[in-house]
Amino acid sequence: MIPGPFTYHRPATIADAVKLLSTLGDEARPLAGGHSLVPMMKLRLASPDHLVDLHGIDGLKGIRREGDRIVIGAMITQHQLLGSDDIARSLPILHEAALLIADPQVRYRGTIGGNVANGDPGNDMPALMLTLGAGYRLEGPNGGRYIAASEFYQGAYFTALEPGEILTAISIPAPAAGHGYAYEKLKRKVGDYATAAAAVMLTMAGGKVTSCAIGLTNLHETPLLAVEAAKAVIGTSLDPATLKKAAAAASAIMSPAADARGPVEYRKHVGGIMLTRALTRAAARAK
Ligand SMILES: Cc1cc2nc3c(=O)[nH]c(=O)nc-3n(C[C@H](O)[C@H](O)[C@H](O)COP(=O)(O)OP(=O)(O)OC[C@H]3O[C@@H](n4cnc5c(N)ncnc54)[C@H](O)[C@@H]3O)c2cc1C
Repeated sequence: MIPGPFTYHRPATIADAVKLLSTLGDEARPLAGGHSLVPMMKLRLASPDHLVDLHGIDGLKGIRREGDRIVIGAMITQHQLLGSDDIARSLPILHEAALLIADPQVRYRGTIGGNVANGDPGNDMPALMLTLGAGYRLEGPNGGRYIAASEFYQGAYFTALEPGEILTAISIPAPAAGHGYAYEKLKRKVGDYATAAAAVMLTMAGGKVTSCAIGLTNLHETPLLAVEAAKAVIGTSLDPATLKKAAAAASAIMSPAADARGPVEYRKHVGGIMLTRALTRAAARAK
């Protein structure tokens, strides 16, 4: 289908983008890679009167170190993430997850900022950001602010972004050296969104888990941080009984929608399997 009519704007600075969005009001939307927004427009599920294209803004680009944090500009594409040696070295889980998003065509255009700002429970990056303890830098008509990813998601397609605000960068604490990691995603076919997915970051010493964070994708209307499941594995050697306990604790907070990817019970079941696999693989990678 063909989208409805809209006026196209291409600001050159973050300040100009914010000004445009706050002046044009509810009928204006930021445009990043367009790989979530444009399909919605084609289906007439979104009909913004104005698109504010963020591609001309240098301040939204780049991957850099700021002390012990890695800061990724909102307009970095999934393809650029995959091409970054720094990301592959210090945040290998981000590399692993980006490779599981859609296909190369989508990854060439789709941005990390668009992925996390979209609020779609099917997007892979949000649960990963919760697992990594990331935060988002936002810029709006009242200035800049920082919000933890864990406080950003409020419902399906409903986030803490205020009118006129854009997400400018994602700030991630560098994980401990020797950490174990895994992102396990079940999808019906290459290029599909997750039926269920689990992200695990952990550290181990003497064969036992010393710290752990777990995120879940597409198993609720928002990404989930599975706090009790993570607690269940700390201090253990991830024996079969512990893995079962962790999967049960994670399952208790899942409430996926029944849709073309399967009924609720099936999606919760495979969510537990994704978590078990991710924990096992993360432990095998920990040094
Ligand atoms: C066939 C197909 C398969 C896909 N499969 C997957 C998948 O498996 N996993 C996955 O995670 N994603 C998947 N996607 C979605 C893809 O990753 C999108 O690129 C991503 O969800 C949105 O990023 P974008 O840069 O394209 O944003 P856009 O589509 O441009 O924007 C998405 C939304 O976020 C807002 N927005 C964008 N940038 C900002 C910003 N900086 N600040 C504030 N608001 C902003 C827009 O206004 C819009 O509402 C798929 C897409 C397609 C077409």
